Amino acid sequence: ENLTNQIAAGEVIERPASVVKELVENSLDAGATRIRVDFIDAGLKQIVVQDNGTGIARDQVDLAFTRHATSKINNEHDLFKVSTLGFRGEALASISAVSHVEIVTATENAIGIKAEFSGGSKKGQEDAASQKGTKITVRDLFFNTPARLKYLRSPRTEIMKIVDIINRLSLGYPQVSFTLSNTGKVLLRTTGNGNLKQTIANVYGRHIAEKMESFEAKDSDFKITGLMSKPELTRSTRNFISILLNGRYIKNFQLNNAIMDGYGSKLTARHYPIVVIAIHVDPLLVDVNVHPTKQEVRLSKEKELSRLITGAISDALLDKTE
Ligand code: ADP
Ligand code: MG
Repeated sequence: ENLTNQIAAGEVIERPASVVKELVENSLDAGATRIRVDFIDAGLKQIVVQDNGTGIARDQVDLAFTRHATSKINNEHDLFKVSTLGFRGEALASISAVSHVEIVTATENAIGIKAEFSGGSKKGQEDAASQKGTKITVRDLFFNTPARLKYLRSPRTEIMKIVDIINRLSLGYPQVSFTLSNTGKVLLRTTGNGNLKQTIANVYGRHIAEKMESFEAKDSDFKITGLMSKPELTRSTRNFISILLNGRYIKNFQLNNAIMDGYGSKLTARHYPIVVIAIHVDPLLVDVNVHPTKQEVRLSKEKELSRLITGAISDALLDKTE
């Protein structure tokens, strides 16, 4: 049973950044408006994620750490209209299968609970005074699956992957205040005042935020809003293009191309813009149940959406240059 858990964990939890992603997504699903993340030794020694979300009821904590137990999907039908970032009920089970986890959580006006899980088993629990919200501490990641450690890159690269995840989630949730720190040293802090331009300033710097223009468009299925750099302001990688579908950061080659097409010949070869695009769509049109990391999605009407994006961006460029 523990072995099965470790194998399954490998699909979801590849590296410290996967832990950060899953825990922060849970915080967002729990309606948190303030999320703090701190890590030590590129996340291998310790990762702490603390939120002010709903918390988990005392008698639901064990269930939360059980594989395939989720509070977010009730039946098969729900799987066709997923509106939360999580839905598989795998993350906490997977993380606790390959590390030592301590959780302190409390719901509104209730006595909190502190529980410990390690290598897939529960180690104990006690009452804990706590404000509404959840704090999860993950220690010694992959302590029992040393082979995993061999696949990790340099600490520097692993840290960059953590920063990248928090950057994208911040851009997807400008109304949430994020603080990311490395052993207490703050790497990123967003105000969480709901203003995307402000969040871009927090993430990429004020000089960049000031040079970005807004764009938007909608049709009967999609509503898109975003900020885009002028063609003069480019980067040498596509990494500064963030596509957020109903708040979920996704990787999508077609939509990336749709953005590039919007710029057309205004971009020189191997130059990429800085773009943050939020797409809102009826969850019925999205299949998020395609890949363990949930970053790939299957989208109905992808062509229509592509045209909408290309049009919105090229229109915005016309407005500014004429
Ligand atoms: P999923 O997110 O797919 O439901 P997880 O394993 O990530 O699965 O989490 C299991 C359950 O634990 C969630 O469905 C949710 O009910 C609860 N949970 C996890 N993290 C939090 C949190 N930070 N705040 C409130 N509830 C949480
Ligand atoms: Mg989850």
